[in-house]
Amino acid sequence: MSPTAPRSAANIPRPVPQDALHAYENGTVSIHCSGWPPEQALPTYPALEGNIETDVVVIGAGLAGASVSLHLAELGVATVTLEAKQPADGASGRNAGHVQPFLDVLEPLQTWPDQGKRLINALVENRNIVYDLCRTHGIDGDASPDGLLEAAFKPAAALEKKAACWRAFGYDVQPVDADQIQKMLGTERYRWGIHWKEGGRVNPYLFTNGMVAAAARLGARVYGDSPVMACEKDGQRWRVTTPNGIVMARRIVVCTSGHAGNTFFPQLAQTQYPLVACGLATRPLPDALLETLNPSRVVFTQYPAGLYPLVIDGRKRLVTATIPGSGKAGDAETYFAYLLRFLHRTFPQTRAFTLELESYWTGVTASSSHVYHEDYAKYYRVDDNVFALMNLGTWGNVMGPLLGQSLARALAAGRPEECVLPLEAPKPVRLPSIFEFKVRRLMIPAARLVDYLGLA
Ligand SMILES: Cc1cc2nc3c(=O)[nH]c(=O)nc-3n(C[C@H](O)[C@H](O)[C@H](O)COP(=O)(O)OP(=O)(O)OC[C@H]3O[C@@H](n4cnc5c(N)ncnc54)[C@H](O)[C@@H]3O)c2cc1C
Repeated sequence: MSPTAPRSAANIPRPVPQDALHAYENGTVSIHCSGWPPEQALPTYPALEGNIETDVVVIGAGLAGASVSLHLAELGVATVTLEAKQPADGASGRNAGHVQPFLDVLEPLQTWPDQGKRLINALVENRNIVYDLCRTHGIDGDASPDGLLEAAFKPAAALEKKAACWRAFGYDVQPVDADQIQKMLGTERYRWGIHWKEGGRVNPYLFTNGMVAAAARLGARVYGDSPVMACEKDGQRWRVTTPNGIVMARRIVVCTSGHAGNTFFPQLAQTQYPLVACGLATRPLPDALLETLNPSRVVFTQYPAGLYPLVIDGRKRLVTATIPGSGKAGDAETYFAYLLRFLHRTFPQTRAFTLELESYWTGVTASSSHVYHEDYAKYYRVDDNVFALMNLGTWGNVMGPLLGQSLARALAAGRPEECVLPLEAPKPVRLPSIFEFKVRRLMIPAARLVDYLGLA
């Protein structure tokens, strides 16, 4: 897939105006701060005007809603998609671009009715779903299956166990030594790692928009700037109200991630642990540096603390994401300085070049667990003929398309219980802010200190 058009100007306010600080803290800065939208804006979808009817209304056009809409439309189900802003304005247009086609831990699945077998089978079978959807629907998502590398200072039993488990499922995943890592990444800092030959990267903004455009081509009616304000039962149907129009529908699928600020189905707003994360993209790197910096273009994460997951995208930029300290989410310069220090230490060749920050942004993840890597997505049965696909955590690029496809197929067949995850009643989590507290105040500061002191 070809890279997106270059952006010309850095879009980082310096210093960040006081009144914008809360938007960085809430992960609601303009999507145009994100490094993923192309310079030439994509076509927008008009707001809903007047009254229409459909079978299914999908609320929200992030990775989840885009996939549900696309797969419903593909199956010939009359679908209307309502997005409060424009597609990928939420977390989906702000993520780090990693396509991770495996789960980090399987133990919590043991408590599921089927021990998670349907989910695992679906993931194994559809592990290339991002690339397959791009190919099938002609989506130019700068998607590249260059694999992933988890690099560590010494062999780690937990990583070996994970690799062995997924190898048994048929994945091409191998341990690599210091020499191999040096050849792939261009650093001598890591002694051992796990190389996943599947997975890789995607531009999540373009990919999400591509799914929505494909849904529209297949007959879904898509409306932007149409925030849903109310969903009310009207006989056998639902009346879904937006500022300038109403949709009468038999079924509703809610894909609003954290569901913040929504008054309809308020129980959904309490089902998750939100966490603010920030993303950074450099200006395109010089070709001379790219010869030795990650020449394999593999997606690179560090084990155990993945402070600076790194992607080199089709525009030759380094893209990363990290977790900002409490109250410091607007501090682009600090996080860029941290990144530079890490790069200079890990890739000494970067010291000879001037690296510049092109974009800095924040977004919010919604997780079903306050334990990292146990944040499995959820399907909810919210009301009569009302379903939700939420809480994709940090795995939305694969889980959004995969679970959206499964839900769409089950709805098209009229058998929603046949989804790959159980349909649950929305349940409020206890202490929703505990995850954010743990990560932003304890884990990340400790990991940064260890990194700063060079202890790991
Ligand atoms: C910084 C960062 C880095 C990340 N890195 C990765 C990564 O590398 N790989 C990965 O797989 N995942 C990553 N994630 C997670 C991933 O981005 C999310 O899991 C995913 O985007 C969630 O998709 P979604 O469709 O559920 O939510 P969203 O993309 O947030 O979509 C929800 C949509 O609902 C809309 N909406 C809300 N209320 C209404 C309403 N009333 N009416 C109509 N529309 C409404 C919103 O406007 C929004 O567009 C990252 C997330 C962040 C923030």
